Amino acid sequence: MTGTTTDHEELATRAGRELEEATAQEILRWAADTFGKRFCVTSSMEDAVVAHLASSVFPGVDVVFLDTGYHFPETIGTRDAVAATMPVNVITLTPALTVAEQDAQHGPRLHDRDPDLCCSLRKVEPLNRGLGGYDAWATGLRRDESPTRANTPVVAWDARRRKVKIAPIARWTQDDVDAYVNANGVLLNPLLWEGYTSVGCSPLSCTRKPGEGEDARAGRWSGSGKTECGIHL
Ligand code: SF4
Repeated sequence: MTGTTTDHEELATRAGRELEEATAQEILRWAADTFGKRFCVTSSMEDAVVAHLASSVFPGVDVVFLDTGYHFPETIGTRDAVAATMPVNVITLTPALTVAEQDAQHGPRLHDRDPDLCCSLRKVEPLNRGLGGYDAWATGLRRDESPTRANTPVVAWDARRRKVKIAPIARWTQDDVDAYVNANGVLLNPLLWEGYTSVGCSPLSCTRKPGEGEDARAGRWSGSGKTECGIHL
């Protein structure tokens, strides 16, 4: 689809209303039909659920992964398994600075001292750059993951990036995810079997296993007051 950002903003607002009750596949079908190759899926490689859903309606879809340089080996392995076994085109984005260059410029362990700056350098800026060639992007955000995600629309206007943002499984629960994974043999990050419920970067200050009764994202930047990396703010 071609069109101005104003067209896309109106389109996103209308689709958010009209697709609220649609299935994840119907939402992704709409995205693929509307934007074609100017649509991509982003994945943290915690699981391949959205990539699997998207590839079922749009084989060859671009799946964008941010390699921060701080990932668990299991996450890189999941990315490689997705690329090797699924009908998707995995695109790996990297920050402008290597970890060593960042350490030299900002000091070591920036993630412990200023995680907002670290996430900005290693996640937000590379994603903003990488999404430049797309009009619409899909994420795996779900309303039940945390209070900060409880109002996630299925389709919305991403005003900061001036793109259409799609959350096809926003209305899914963890039970819905588990059922889809089991029914379709979807790849999961092996860390999910070790007690992690949200898999981010490997420093303990960024990802730990949640405690009893904590929400799924409680182990992210635990104790810092930070709840999001900045991509979804
Ligand atoms: S999650 Fe942690 S290591 Fe990863 S980019 Fe953010 S602060 Fe840095």
